[in-house]
Amino acid sequence: MGLLFLGTPLQWDEAKQYADHVRTHGITQFLNIWDRLKDRYGDELLWGDEIEYMVAAFDDQEKNVKLSLRQTEILAKLQSIVNDIASDRSETRSVPTFHPEYGRFMLESTPGSPYTGEIRDLLAVESNMRYRRHLARKHLKTTEVPFTMTSFPRLGIPGVFTEPYFDPADAVSSHSLFLPEEITNPHARFPTLTANIRRRRGSKVAINLPLFIDDRTPRPFVDRTIPWQRNIYPEDPEAKNGAALLDHIYMDAMGFGMGCSCLQLTFQACNITEARRLYDALVPVAPLLLALSAASPLWRGYIADVDCRWDVVSGSVDDRTEEERGLKPLKESRFKIPKSRYASVSLYISEYWMNQPAYNDIDAPHDPAIFERLRNHGVDELLSRHIAHLFIRDPLVIFSETIHQDDTTSNDHFENIQSTNWQTLRFKPPPPNSPIGWRVEFRPMEVQITDFENAAFAVFIVLLSRAMLHFNLNLYIPISKVDENMARAQRRDAVRSEKFFFRKDVFPSASSRPSSVASSIPSSPISEHGGPIHVNGINGKEKKLRNCFPLPPRPDDAYFAGSVHEEYEEMTMVEIMNGKGTTFPGLLNLVYMYLDTLDVDDESRRRIEEYLDLIRRRTNGSLRTAASWIREFVRTHPAYKFDSVVSQEINYDLMVAIDEM
Ligand code: ADP
Ligand code: MG
Ligand code: MG
Ligand code: MG
Ligand code: MG
Ligand code: MG
Repeated sequence: MGLLFLGTPLQWDEAKQYADHVRTHGITQFLNIWDRLKDRYGDELLWGDEIEYMVAAFDDQEKNVKLSLRQTEILAKLQSIVNDIASDRSETRSVPTFHPEYGRFMLESTPGSPYTGEIRDLLAVESNMRYRRHLARKHLKTTEVPFTMTSFPRLGIPGVFTEPYFDPADAVSSHSLFLPEEITNPHARFPTLTANIRRRRGSKVAINLPLFIDDRTPRPFVDRTIPWQRNIYPEDPEAKNGAALLDHIYMDAMGFGMGCSCLQLTFQACNITEARRLYDALVPVAPLLLALSAASPLWRGYIADVDCRWDVVSGSVDDRTEEERGLKPLKESRFKIPKSRYASVSLYISEYWMNQPAYNDIDAPHDPAIFERLRNHGVDELLSRHIAHLFIRDPLVIFSETIHQDDTTSNDHFENIQSTNWQTLRFKPPPPNSPIGWRVEFRPMEVQITDFENAAFAVFIVLLSRAMLHFNLNLYIPISKVDENMARAQRRDAVRSEKFFFRKDVFPSASSRPSSVASSIPSSPISEHGGPIHVNGINGKEKKLRNCFPLPPRPDDAYFAGSVHEEYEEMTMVEIMNGKGTTFPGLLNLVYMYLDTLDVDDESRRRIEEYLDLIRRRTNGSLRTAASWIREFVRTHPAYKFDSVVSQEINYDLMVAIDEM
């Protein structure tokens, strides 16, 4: 979340009249950036994480844990201490930044300045995360704790789940049966976003997560905690008229999804070409990391039969009309749109030879007029499609004060559409008038309970991103298979029980492939032509993680002989990470191979390997996901009745146990 502009937001009926205005000027703003920065080259690797917290308030007397709605006060306090630290010369760490988030119980934190490619920065990630948590915690009440938990188990139960209590009857923005207005950040942007999604869609959002059916769960499961007969808002009857499904956990508001916490990483690339290359390489990896980071099995007081937040968030901001969703023939709406604004990426965008047209095999509608405009301006076809695809969406929040902008200095209209396309990857153009380069944001991961785990995932992905570029890995599979992997990744215990589509041979040519992966992982990288790559002097190992990797030319036609469907197969997570057969060393081994190209002292190497070891143990199931651990905690709790219900007492004990970690 960037800076929040204070102003007067337009209601949907008014806002929609400016939709074309925002899109047109948004594209102008993008083209101004493109003209100035498309040839920008040589930006170093800078990167950073974002961690979201939920602040919980413990009531030890009642044995209840509630969400604390003090975000505004907490952020004000953190801002003032952050200013104090900034002026304290004995404090050498860069001052972290705290940001507001959708939930009034949420905080987001980022490192005060991005990390560089220095090895010592890799090793500073965990302590920076701990420092941020410590700062946040120190400025809360003694009864409050900042949790990095993906979903709050009892958000939206009947009864008290916030501190202070508010009645859902007051939910004027969402019209939710479960969540009060005060669950949402009071800044005008958030209630407006909530209300305009509902108004644009023409109904409340409707999320149905399959319930985990336990030994004594009544069947069919009719949820008695839904106020079926409430009659306050016009949408109240939706639940009984079919929106709420049997044997499912029904949720009806943006807060259920955007109230989730996640772990995101942003990488600056050498130039636009490398950013697009990296974006594509990370697309097929996104579902795997969602599965490995799975942390959210409990929803609205029930155990779900899924382990991840993804589809909940996706449903919680699904503003598509019935026509767009394909339920009615197109009349008012312009496009049939297969996915929510929050969804897995629908298009690969790199122009490098590896990205064959056959990989972009799903319906990703784009705005033809915007596409033509971009093409006529000289933007290549793939990037034009990407932008014109994002721009099928309407702007949801428009402030009357910022309708008219200077398109040479602002990117606000562009960002309005861009930043409400919440996909697994985000391709971020440089903001105007800033030193920042072309960036890629990796967004699928669930936040982990401990900072050690969050650091491990961050370190793994930054190293993997370098391995992808260093070895010029080809990870493409048809994007329809990535979508299928996304669905599988969320299933209960996906790491251990699902198979995922993955590419069988990730090396760009036979000569770049180690002869026997299992027995001889090379200790120095092999270039396209079989010789070692020289970077920092002759055979010198690199001192730091870097950008600006060479892109070897297209191999001969033999490389493309088969159909793209012969290039991938279903693999277990262990095979994907540890390798399969003689051609594919596995993602973890590729990271180790990349590490071997770096000049890392033994102690640093040992610490990096501790992080990689966590990923390895997660992969092979010897270390459970948070989702699996939480599910087990509930099911073995003495008060659990094997009825799929997470009671106040169980939730309290769970949160105490998590706090103790
Ligand atoms: P958003 O919410 O829009 O995704 P944030 O500002 O919350 O973005 O987080 C951006 C992340 O990118 C932070 O971790 C920050 O440290 C990092 N970052 C900042 N500048 C750069 C840069 N030039 N290149 C890469 N990452 C950066
Ligand atoms: Mg955030
Ligand atoms: Mg952010
Ligand atoms: Mg954000
Ligand atoms: Mg954001
Ligand atoms: Mg982000």
